[in-house]
Amino acid sequence: MPAIYLDNAATSFPKPPAVAEAMVRYMTEVGASVNRGVYASAQDAGMTTLLLREGLCRLFGHGDPTHCILTCGNTMGLNMVLRGWLRPGDHCLVSAVEHNAVMRPLQDLAAEGVSFDRIPCDSAGRLDAGAVEGMIRPNTRLLVMANGSNVSGAVQDAQAVGDVCRRRGVPFVLDAAQTAGHWPIDFEKLGLSALSVPGHKGLMGPSGTGALLLSKDFAGQLRPIVTGGTGSASDEEVQPPYMPDRFESGTPNLPGIYGLQAAVDFVLSKGVETFRDHETALTARFLSKLRSIPHVRLAGPWDLEDRVGVVSLDFETVDNAEASFRLEQDYGIMTRCGLHCAPAAHRALGTFPQGTVRFSFGWYTTEEEIDAAVRAVAEIAGA
Ligand code: PMP
Repeated sequence: MPAIYLDNAATSFPKPPAVAEAMVRYMTEVGASVNRGVYASAQDAGMTTLLLREGLCRLFGHGDPTHCILTCGNTMGLNMVLRGWLRPGDHCLVSAVEHNAVMRPLQDLAAEGVSFDRIPCDSAGRLDAGAVEGMIRPNTRLLVMANGSNVSGAVQDAQAVGDVCRRRGVPFVLDAAQTAGHWPIDFEKLGLSALSVPGHKGLMGPSGTGALLLSKDFAGQLRPIVTGGTGSASDEEVQPPYMPDRFESGTPNLPGIYGLQAAVDFVLSKGVETFRDHETALTARFLSKLRSIPHVRLAGPWDLEDRVGVVSLDFETVDNAEASFRLEQDYGIMTRCGLHCAPAAHRALGTFPQGTVRFSFGWYTTEEEIDAAVRAVAEIAGA
């Protein structure tokens, strides 16, 4: 029984071979830190780090690599923004389907006097962009939104939300966990103040990597939540004010940086649209076959416009955890069941507390794997 990996929304697998090759090269041939030495291998590390920043900027339509902060993942990037920006008395807007990477820091901040409201979403997880304007208060200092839902797969109209934010002077932060590498994102066009991306999902880099891209204005006012050694301005005991050092303290994850740099090169060489088209075709195939299967409910949009390859199912005749277990046990298909760290999304979709079985596709997913998955779903549902 061949193993079929359909959990790319958690982390993508497999990765382009160049990713592991770059990481092995770092571990066996380079080994040096960055910003801390001038010998050749340290220069190699510095150059690779710069190439990564430049590649990410090219991919996301950002003009300044110094404002591309390398993080240890998307959760860190979002925490850096929420905790570094919001203060007691501030109000924040979020969508009704946010991940706990946003909701947990926000709930912590709420205990300190930050307030927030959730922009409503329909039963397919689509945000009502028209509601945003009326929800902005005089003290609204931030709007944070997942670009694509890790539960329903719905991609929100970030342009419409960005336009309102720009007009009303509210900094707009996009959590691109499920769209980076899957969907075109243009920092400048969307009018973003911050864009947080994981390196290990659609970008196909290693786990423990990510990036936070900041606008100049926002970066200037954002407080770093972690300070320490940067390898620069070592005569000073205060954090350097310049970018990217202001937000990058400590020795970074260099094997991860090498891997992610190779991954971003791969994504740029293919073009994001190639990945989007592949995943849309796979999703179309999955959904069209799913239509004729009784006793399974789709939690998310049927239409293919503005959705990524994340498909959540609620089995009506079998417990969802049991269904996910059988998918692996009997068919070798790896999925994720439960609430996917996003209880709010399940409340909006009507799948709380039972959760869903989530199938998520990637660049290496094949049509045969989709067909095998739908056949297994039909058998498990008892169709
Ligand atoms: N936001 C969303 C929408 C996600 O799907 C995820 C990952 N499941 C995260 C944030 C957190 O990303 P990471 O695991 O890279 O910290």
